[in-house]
Amino acid sequence: MIFFKPSEGWPSDVADYLGTEIPETWQRVAVKVHFGRSKRRRAGVLPSWVAPTVAMLEKRGCSVGVVDTNTLYGGERHTTDAHLAVAHKHGYPRAAILDGAAHELAPGISVPSDVLGYDGIVHFAHVTGHQVVGYGGALKGVGMGLAHRSTKLWVHHGGVPVHKPSACTACGRCVEVCAHGALSTDGISKDCVMCAACVGECAAVSFGWGSTVEVARRLAVAALRIDDALPIWHVAVGMDVTRLCDCMGDAQDEPLGSVGVWVGEDALEVDNAAMRGCWPLGGRHYSKERWSAVVRCASGLRRNT
Ligand code: SF4
Ligand code: SF4
Repeated sequence: MIFFKPSEGWPSDVADYLGTEIPETWQRVAVKVHFGRSKRRRAGVLPSWVAPTVAMLEKRGCSVGVVDTNTLYGGERHTTDAHLAVAHKHGYPRAAILDGAAHELAPGISVPSDVLGYDGIVHFAHVTGHQVVGYGGALKGVGMGLAHRSTKLWVHHGGVPVHKPSACTACGRCVEVCAHGALSTDGISKDCVMCAACVGECAAVSFGWGSTVEVARRLAVAALRIDDALPIWHVAVGMDVTRLCDCMGDAQDEPLGSVGVWVGEDALEVDNAAMRGCWPLGGRHYSKERWSAVVRCASGLRRNT
């Protein structure tokens, strides 16, 4: 793991370093980013941060896709077309959305199957605060950001969607979405396989947040399983650090400052360093207690595997 200090903006030697470390066998490379929210001025991960690495990879002859996954919850990043519109608005004209069927990497932990179309992943994780797990970085970027919807649902809530009868108009639309016959206008039955296809289709089918400690534990499990199963280089971007995550509407337009960029293959190691480096900027906005729950769990899992 290595740290790069900013020098009048983005440290240009990040791409040089990745160029020496990424194996020649990587011919198809996914550059994982966060395209941000359309109503804000800019993306979560700026195109100018990513461009030198994409150029380096393309110069080597790699085929590069700049990617993200759709969100679990409804809204502009829930469907591929709308998500691509956000990406285009924020300067990513060649963006791609990973939204394939669930491919299980470890028991209960899945990624969209189209992830497997790449030989390796360069993961740009913007350092932010986070309203539930206290801090966003490399672990959150893979445990939630690269996970299949079913795993996102498990991380957030434990797996079963919530049907809110008071908000249901019995239109029947969600019944068509469920391929397992588990949804009716009366609610969700025990036949639910927790695929999460219905979540976000309608405000009456959603997910509840689990306890923050349990979400932290599940995030750590999902992140490490994905990180261990896939070839990933992490770039934790402690530049224009924000107080809330890039999914939030008001998070990106008032950055708290910049510290630098951490690059490494181990999401836990990269995040530990980035957290220590960026914590003074986050101050009261960041919850050390919640973040510690993620790190404690991830560290325990690493020791036991
Ligand atoms: S939950 Fe939503 S989509 Fe399903 S029947 Fe009720 S209103 Fe329609
Ligand atoms: S999670 Fe999947 S199986 Fe369960 S109710 Fe929703 S669509 Fe049906």
